[in-house]
Amino acid sequence: MDKKIICIACPIGCEINVHIEKDGKMKIQGNRCKRGESYAKDEILNPKRVLTMSIRVENGEMDLVSVKTDGSIPKKLIPKAIEYLKGVKIRAPIKVGDVIVENLLDTGVKVVATRTVLEDAILQLSNK
Ligand code: SF4
Repeated sequence: MDKKIICIACPIGCEINVHIEKDGKMKIQGNRCKRGESYAKDEILNPKRVLTMSIRVENGEMDLVSVKTDGSIPKKLIPKAIEYLKGVKIRAPIKVGDVIVENLLDTGVKVVATRTVLEDAILQLSNK
């Protein structure tokens, strides 16, 4: 079996061909460096992705804050991670870089805010 993969480990974007033998051995061609080889192996054996999405904010000037994982997580965990993060609610104020989840689904990866959400000024006044 042959699979074509575009390496995204650097901007060159080598097109890598992975030939997988019946016994599972891989022959990797087209990569210009070793990073491409390990990227291709990971893509076949355990593909990973950075997850970006928005989660709900209470008491904020907007209802959602954009977040992303600070590293890649296994692609197969992404639907579960999205479901989990849909259930997370945080309160404003939130600053860019604030850690929203310390260890997402035991992957060792953090979820961090990628924008600032201030407290809702009207709500702040009415609480005084
Ligand atoms: S194989 Fe190496 S040179 Fe090619 S895209 Fe990947 S990291 Fe860049």
